[in-house]
Amino acid sequence: MPSDLHTHTSFSDGRLTPEELVAAAKAAQLKYIAITDHDTVDGICHLYEQGMLPMKGIQIIPGIEFSAHHETQDIHILGYNIDIYHRALGDKLNDVVEARWLRFSKMVEKLQELGYAITEADVLKIAGTSKAISRSHVAQVLVAKGFFPTVAAVFDAVLDKGKPAYVSHYRLEPEEIISLIKEAGGTPVLAHPKLIGDDGLVEELLQKGIEGLEVFYPRHDAVDTARYLAMAEKYQLLVSGGSDFHGIPMRYPSELGVFTVEDRYAEKFFRKASL
Ligand code: AMP
Ligand code: MN
Ligand code: MN
Ligand code: MN
Repeated sequence: MPSDLHTHTSFSDGRLTPEELVAAAKAAQLKYIAITDHDTVDGICHLYEQGMLPMKGIQIIPGIEFSAHHETQDIHILGYNIDIYHRALGDKLNDVVEARWLRFSKMVEKLQELGYAITEADVLKIAGTSKAISRSHVAQVLVAKGFFPTVAAVFDAVLDKGKPAYVSHYRLEPEEIISLIKEAGGTPVLAHPKLIGDDGLVEELLQKGIEGLEVFYPRHDAVDTARYLAMAEKYQLLVSGGSDFHGIPMRYPSELGVFTVEDRYAEKFFRKASL
């Protein structure tokens, strides 16, 4: 049975609720699944509070995906098996989520100035239960209103770093994220290294206390995968991988189970929690 260690729910910028995600994972016969929402563990708290964690028939790994501060590159750090009720973690996440709120208002303002008639209410409607308001929600509004054909086109034209409606927000330093994850009992893993766009920087980050590397990822080709596998070996890191499923039809993978990792990688992350 295959596994997936990188997925999002409606508590960040994914479309499926945690219950729907878990049901889809079961239907796809996944053995281990990690829920890794951006800057929040609320989706996992929700499952736990509904009495759905642990769950029969599937092993759910509580996770998170942080965005780290960097002037030019996008650095994402995954945390697996964090204590979802950890106080210091919760406090920091509240600060980050609040900063996302301020930032989304500024983005809407910039877009209005650029002539795109969208409102904060439009974005909040798309964001639904999500606390971590994201560029992805804003992009979906611009597509729904017919300004762009796809979310990717929106990022390309206005929302990517350096583009006219880009607004940065408060993000923790990589070192801070790594210690916070460890403090909360979790395992820090560097996400999608190819998307960082600079392997020199990747190697620097791997020497800051990271314990795993996301080697298997949809946008890594065979050559990238082999290179990151060798890098994981060089720094004696756990090997991770996942689909980065968001449940958005236009975005690969549109279904769970299409991109998976072997259970032998996933089980290393699960065992650590049950020690
Ligand atoms: P944020 O964390 O608010 O800066 O938003 C980043 C999110 O937007 C990512 O987690 C992705 O889900 C999404 N995203 C970023 N770039 C693109 C892109 N080119 N096409 C589609 N979605 C993207
Ligand atoms: Mn996302
Ligand atoms: Mn990411
Ligand atoms: Mn992700």
